[in-house]
Amino acid sequence: MNKYTKITASIGPKSEDRETLTRMIRAGVNVCRLNFSHDTGDTQGQKIDMIREISAELNTPVAVMIDLQGPKHRIGNFATEEKYPLLIGQKFTFDANPLPGDSTRVQLPDSDVLASLKVGDRILLNDGKIEMRVESVSPNSVETTVMRGDEIWSRRGFNLPDTEIDTSVLTKKDRADLEYAITKKPDWVAISFVQKPEDIAEVRDFITARTAHPIKIIAKIERPNAVERITDIAAAADGIMIARGDLAVEVPYAEVPAISRYIIRECRKMNKPVIVATQMLGSMVNSEFPTRAEITDVATASYLRADSTMTSEETTIGINPVKAIETMANILRHADCDAIANPFDWSRVENIPENDWSRSVASMAYLNRASAIVVFARDTIATTQISCRKPDIPVIAVCNEPAIANQLCLARGVFPIYDTELFGMRDAFNAARRFNINMGKLVIVDEEKISLRTLD
Ligand code: PGA
Ligand code: MN
Repeated sequence: MNKYTKITASIGPKSEDRETLTRMIRAGVNVCRLNFSHDTGDTQGQKIDMIREISAELNTPVAVMIDLQGPKHRIGNFATEEKYPLLIGQKFTFDANPLPGDSTRVQLPDSDVLASLKVGDRILLNDGKIEMRVESVSPNSVETTVMRGDEIWSRRGFNLPDTEIDTSVLTKKDRADLEYAITKKPDWVAISFVQKPEDIAEVRDFITARTAHPIKIIAKIERPNAVERITDIAAAADGIMIARGDLAVEVPYAEVPAISRYIIRECRKMNKPVIVATQMLGSMVNSEFPTRAEITDVATASYLRADSTMTSEETTIGINPVKAIETMANILRHADCDAIANPFDWSRVENIPENDWSRSVASMAYLNRASAIVVFARDTIATTQISCRKPDIPVIAVCNEPAIANQLCLARGVFPIYDTELFGMRDAFNAARRFNINMGKLVIVDEEKISLRTLD
């Protein structure tokens, strides 16, 4: 059984030794995500080197994705480490004063955030357990009423679902991290808390001013204003992550499944790969087995034809990261196989013109019951576009650059090979045989030429 849905694995303390990482890649990891919220600089650089070495040893393309922390907001410090209860109906003030906080006020260190808050905006703390509403704003402070109470203490993170924050998507820390990361030639850079398409343009300019290496950009969708602008953001970015962790705090959690489904469909139309992220096998942080609900969540991502599922803490701090990947791969293989048995319904390909060439490739493969599509990939564009038509047969991408093979690791149903020897029409048959495809027809795509050949 082939695995069509890719696995993006977050790499952390429990998965950054060579043996574990090798076993994880063998078990089905396609993309390694390095989270710059935690380690930075050379510590991450050494992991990138190691991933490249393992990928070469196993002769398997693996993508490296660095994930920048972005403008994740935190409140200031309190006088003591104790927790301060906040009760429904009480008033609480956020201000620019660096004095330690107490039960009536605390500093909000980020002046851009303080300036962006408007009367009526919600401030959510502790993963949404605390909800406050802004009652009044003055130049250096905002007064709130507590709508839902819990305890508050130093440096808690908060979310502002109603506020468009007038700030750069790259913080000072992100700029330093990205500056370093670029020197290590990652395949993907994921940008947190994207709000608008201009955020992507800003990051792209930052990258292209420093390197000619083609680094692709993932926009993490975790704010309601990003959901509203998903089409423009997907057009500006090279891929999308549905970052359900923060998203489920910033939008009503019950809307997350519908939003996820909507984003996956938009990405398919826009020819951009999409990752479903966060808590997919969350219970495996402490357990060797997934819950029934998690099994279904992973399978659902496959049924919706997402490009990739993602592991988070289950592979960074979990008790058995290799088992988590084996579990995810096993669920995906079964779901992908079932998805193929129930082929993609062409009538549901909305807004993609019938004469779109990638749609023609996929329907040619479907109508001729082809065994595979082979693409000679000089860049990622054609292959990604075909992958977004979700043809439900392997798309074998023969790449003459390692970076192209690595970047294609994220695309659903794409099996990239990096081989400079295999680069003529006749080599399509050899490429297919490498994946044990020995019979049937091949749709072959080489630049403008699309042809149908029979394997013998
Ligand atoms: P994070 O992003 O883990 O960097 O917060 C993922 C999410 O919010 O779901
Ligand atoms: Mn997040």
